[in-house]
Amino acid sequence: MIYVALDDLLSLYSFPEHPFNKQRYFAFKDALEKKGLIRYLKKVESREAKRDELLLFHTKEYIEFVKNKDKEGGYLDYGDTPAFEGIFRASSIIVGTTLNCIDKAIQENTKVFTPVGGLHHAYRDRASGFCVFNDICISINYLRKKYGIEKILYFDIDAHHGDGVYYSFIEDQDLYIVDFHQRGIFPGTGSKTEKGIGKASGTKLNIELTAGTTDEIFLGELKKIEEFLNTIKIEFILFQAGCDSLADDPITFLNLTERVHQGVTGILIEIADKQAKGRMVVFGGGGYSLSNIKKGWIAVIEELLKYEKVKERIF
Ligand SMILES: [Zn+2]
Repeated sequence: MIYVALDDLLSLYSFPEHPFNKQRYFAFKDALEKKGLIRYLKKVESREAKRDELLLFHTKEYIEFVKNKDKEGGYLDYGDTPAFEGIFRASSIIVGTTLNCIDKAIQENTKVFTPVGGLHHAYRDRASGFCVFNDICISINYLRKKYGIEKILYFDIDAHHGDGVYYSFIEDQDLYIVDFHQRGIFPGTGSKTEKGIGKASGTKLNIELTAGTTDEIFLGELKKIEEFLNTIKIEFILFQAGCDSLADDPITFLNLTERVHQGVTGILIEIADKQAKGRMVVFGGGGYSLSNIKKGWIAVIEELLKYEKVKERIF
């Protein structure tokens, strides 16, 4: 059974007059319902993360800072991530929901999709690029602490480099990273020459894409890393499926279609089923065109369902 986090509490993570707002969640929910996919999915509940869960990655000073900004307002970073009343609770709900997804994936050896999550730019001690708490980094440490799972693959196809994850684990030899992103846009990191440091050297790949990159180019790059994917040994997959990499996103310049999301999902399902007892959590990540959200995230869900052999009954 495939699970999806579809609790309206997720819509509280919504910046006012901002591309990252609650319409994204509701566009996804609406598409699931209109396409009739919802009946093939089971729901994961939302909850607030506990303080000790936030502390799995973030510093206590930063957690206090976010709490204070909840009342003070202003920005959490240099101008991309505005504070609003309720931001601490909303951000904690993203993390708690993601951890519920991790638990579900482990308990049932299955795949779970959470639309509002994958906040890959946040660092231990600071917010960045619409991301307050980094639910991916917290998940990595949670998997290790609660379940003893060390070897994890983090795969990121959001148009922006997942810098908060990449640099926080740059010396970690048990976290494999594949990160596709557009070169030259925020956050400006993720050179293809960076492959991890020390014992972790060779465990991470950055694939830089130029503006206007098409499906053919992307899928060609994906083919080149097949060997890397075939040689690694992992126990769990975290997949950030941002759809700001699709054509006509208002803040990025790639020219991809949902075929890319479909293709990557298919490959990751195979690896998850072969190596990781089928366990994978997929994060919605970025994506600021509502029609692209309906294409990209729905393509992921359809691919997950196809592998659950229910597609024939749906289409
Ligand atoms: Zn992005």
